[in-house]
Amino acid sequence: MKIDEAIKNIYGKYKNDLSGEVSQSFPALSNVNPDHFSISIATVDGDIYHIGDLEQEFTIQSISKPFSFGLALEQHGHDFVENKVGMEPTGEDYDSIIKLDDQNRPFNPMVNSGAIVTAGLIDARNFETKKEELLSYYSDFAGGALAIDQKIYKSEYTNSHKNWAIAHLLRHFRVMTADFKTDLEVYFNQCSVLVNSDKLALMGATLANKGINPVTKKQCLSHDNLRHVLSIMFTCGMYNYSGEWAFDVGLPAKSGISGGILMIVPGLAGIAIYSPRLDKRGNSVRGIKVCEELSNLFRFHIFDYETPKRIKDIK
Ligand code: GLU
Repeated sequence: MKIDEAIKNIYGKYKNDLSGEVSQSFPALSNVNPDHFSISIATVDGDIYHIGDLEQEFTIQSISKPFSFGLALEQHGHDFVENKVGMEPTGEDYDSIIKLDDQNRPFNPMVNSGAIVTAGLIDARNFETKKEELLSYYSDFAGGALAIDQKIYKSEYTNSHKNWAIAHLLRHFRVMTADFKTDLEVYFNQCSVLVNSDKLALMGATLANKGINPVTKKQCLSHDNLRHVLSIMFTCGMYNYSGEWAFDVGLPAKSGISGGILMIVPGLAGIAIYSPRLDKRGNSVRGIKVCEELSNLFRFHIFDYETPKRIKDIK
């Protein structure tokens, strides 16, 4: 079955699945329309296959984490970054307070503590330039200028007491510097970057395409750092579902509480789903189902030796 026909069928199959709850983490996020649903597949050849509410924007939330991790690696190198943040799954909630490893590091850059530390690593003169640096880095992956949703940003800034607590504890343990409040603001900003499923899929296609944006041809991530980013997405990207996900779906991915999922099929495509109703672990209910179906149907699992060579050649 061709890919456009497949996503049409899968979209139709799950369109009326209204199970799950929209995130209640902070007010602006809990007010989104729960019914929106879109699927986008951006290939390494620069093609796009998509269906659903394609114009609908949403904030990237935790799907920002692998991109900020990539930028920190580009700026400082693997050893420096790994000295600050570990690479082990936690088995705990993404916003748990607070588990550090035996070297006093957050467990990994995909949980909030690790992501807040990573945001603090971004090399720039001050808050404004850090924010700009991140935004322009993300925009390179998307192949066009991205913006920040100020309403979501302010709502999280004002209401996210748990993230403030995490940042204070990180400071208490001397994991963060005296600038920790600014670093947390950078983190809130990165979570508030607006995308739609097409833009997110293209960000993923850049990861799938050896770090090179398939449309603009800009190299956004070196080969070595790409390997690090995809590895951590594979082991820690789907909250406390990451182990089962690796087993069943078998692809690097990252989920966010706004209801987005980004899944990478290395060498082939970035796949983005937006559907805000979440399961108990914080993953989009319809998003998980779509990813499972696509992976099974096309044998995308990275340990499957019958994965197709190119999306456009799928019959
Ligand atoms: N901004 C959210 C937080 O820090 C992101 C969480 C997520 O998407 O997992 O709590």
